[in-house]
Amino acid sequence: MSSDYIIDKRGRERSNPIERRFRRRYLFDLLEVFENRCAACKKEAIKFDLDHFFIPKSRGGNLMMRHKKGYWVCNALTLCHPCNQKKKDLAAQEFFEPQELEVLREKIGLVSLRINDFHQVDE
Ligand SMILES: [Zn+2]
Repeated sequence: MSSDYIIDKRGRERSNPIERRFRRRYLFDLLEVFENRCAACKKEAIKFDLDHFFIPKSRGGNLMMRHKKGYWVCNALTLCHPCNQKKKDLAAQEFFEPQELEVLREKIGLVSLRINDFHQVDE
């Protein structure tokens, strides 16, 4: 639910503080968890588009979201450019099959866990 998150409008600007703080870290974790593959077609790629997962950009979603309980939640997934174009503005629930969604939730959950572990050290 988008109301569970602190929506920070700055997070939607390019090279904003949230992006600067997390980008390198979550890119690393995302690519590792997704094994350098597109989350939709599973093809390996060198370049990916980052797409919003739980909460679409149109509803205020950022790639990294702060939950009201204080922890960070990854809201990003790796899509190859053709898949991202196919998905357009569809929500994840409209684009992926339910079974697929479960797998993606687990994987993205892993990324969130890693990011929170990492940031406990420097906060
Ligand atoms: Zn793809």
